[in-house]
Amino acid sequence: MTDIFTGSFTQQEPIPKAGIAAALAVMQSGRLHRYNTHGDEVAEAALLEEEFAALVGSKYCLAVASGGYAMTTALRACGVGHGDHVLTNAFTLAPVPGAIAAVGAVPVFVGVTEGLVIDLDDLEAKLDQARVLLLSHMRGHICDMDRLMAMCDAAGVVVIEDCAHTMGAAWRGVPSGRWGKFGCYSTQTYKHMNSGEGGLLISDDATGMARAIMLSGSYMLFEKHRAAPPAETFAQIKYETPNISGRMDNLRAAILRPQLADLQAQCDRWNALYGVVDAGLADTPGLTRITRPDAESYVASSHQFLLLDWDEAAIAEVITRCEARGVALKWFGGAEPTGFTSRYDSWRYAPSAPMPKSDRILKGIIDMRLPLTFSVDDCALIARIIRAEVSAVYQATA
Ligand SMILES: *Cc1c(COP(=O)(O)O)cnc(C)c1O
Repeated sequence: MTDIFTGSFTQQEPIPKAGIAAALAVMQSGRLHRYNTHGDEVAEAALLEEEFAALVGSKYCLAVASGGYAMTTALRACGVGHGDHVLTNAFTLAPVPGAIAAVGAVPVFVGVTEGLVIDLDDLEAKLDQARVLLLSHMRGHICDMDRLMAMCDAAGVVVIEDCAHTMGAAWRGVPSGRWGKFGCYSTQTYKHMNSGEGGLLISDDATGMARAIMLSGSYMLFEKHRAAPPAETFAQIKYETPNISGRMDNLRAAILRPQLADLQAQCDRWNALYGVVDAGLADTPGLTRITRPDAESYVASSHQFLLLDWDEAAIAEVITRCEARGVALKWFGGAEPTGFTSRYDSWRYAPSAPMPKSDRILKGIIDMRLPLTFSVDDCALIARIIRAEVSAVYQATA
């Protein structure tokens, strides 16, 4: 009998009861807009910002409509505009180069290593091509942030972190999102907290955050924010900054606050699932696991491995065989972008030169989500299935 897995790779857990109760209370009040408060009432959105800033240790936080909006706002607040070049990862998801394109700027892609992080040697060689790096901690893999920041600081390159996959993670104990000038998070359904859509932006930079708050559409109500710079910071900025509405509403914030309180426990659960999958794949012939540096405290809400230097037909065969047994693997190396997988040469609105070293790695990246609706036993079964199918195809083609 061959085992078949019957779980869904896209099924998240329900919203916690406390989140549902808080959402109902907001709906009963009718005051869904963040600036619609009675008397000294503090909006759920303002409380969420304050709590998130406290959790990551940032001075300021702004709740917005999406992770993509957080990134475009950070870029705009750093003065990036039409025709500017912005460094970013060749291995990331489409909203990252999309955020750069949204402000009329042009992505300059930087390669990926076998550890699935930005190639710091390639970055070093390209640092003179832009003033800003939009660094994506893609799939939760964090590069050597000490080296990256030293390099960018020396070159005068501003770092904006895309932490869509690293909410709760850290490098050498410093939370992801706290290294650059801005940290951008998503609370879209497949990320570490779920409000359907949503995003958070953090910074310690008063001017940058005042601009971001004005950009998000705060009219002249910025004094209703709590995790925000003092009113005098806005004195000039309020006249100079366009309103590009992208606020988070109180309903989403209410859903998120109880999830924030549970975040650490949820991160531990993800890592337990990841550990089982990763251990189950150890010593599989032809399969390369991703080694993770000691300095990285990761939150592994997904798992990746490499089928390095395999031919495309053999990789496709592995995907098909796993799919037949209920294991939905995503392949970043496929010729066409499908589902959420795409890579730098799929984004044809942005110019790119071939990167052979990165192409070799991208071609072999296999990716799988690990929703918290999976049990440890589910993950052991998933690993057994992948192991068996990778081994079978590898032996047949060796
Ligand atoms: C999801 C995601 C984003 C953007 O988040 P949205 O809230 O969907 O706009 C950014 N970067 C990465 C790597 C993502 O996976």
